[in-house]
Amino acid sequence: MSTNEQITSKYDDDNIFAKILSGDIPNDTVYEDDRFLAFHDIAPAAPVHIVVIPKASGLRSPRDLEDNPELAGKLVSVATKIASQENLDSGYRLIMNCGEHAGQSVPHVHLHILGGGTLGPLG
Ligand code: 5GP
Repeated sequence: MSTNEQITSKYDDDNIFAKILSGDIPNDTVYEDDRFLAFHDIAPAAPVHIVVIPKASGLRSPRDLEDNPELAGKLVSVATKIASQENLDSGYRLIMNCGEHAGQSVPHVHLHILGGGTLGPLG
């Protein structure tokens, strides 16, 4: 199934981040509260690469936040808190991939935190 099919059809309960949330796949947790979990990316694209995910099921991509600005705002707020916790004082980048052209590979909404060194250009 293509990424675009994955983010437009029924939420896949077996996606990797759903399995991390259920505890079926271990993770290197850096932050957790009642609504969010954050962990180190398994294939870091920067010296520090953390992924933040909402614990809520059914959110396949950033498109599913269109009607939930409160959760979207809280996700960014939590990411900035984690960046402070991880001492990314010289700067960092927040990225959300949506769909095939953006390279989204896991159909559970997530926010990347990249930092720990000078980052390359976007796009
Ligand atoms: P996307 O490409 O969908 O925006 O981001 C998905 C991210 O999840 C990728 O950066 C990828 O390296 C990461 N990832 C995939 N599988 C695992 C895993 O099992 N554990 C962790 N910690 N990260 C994963």
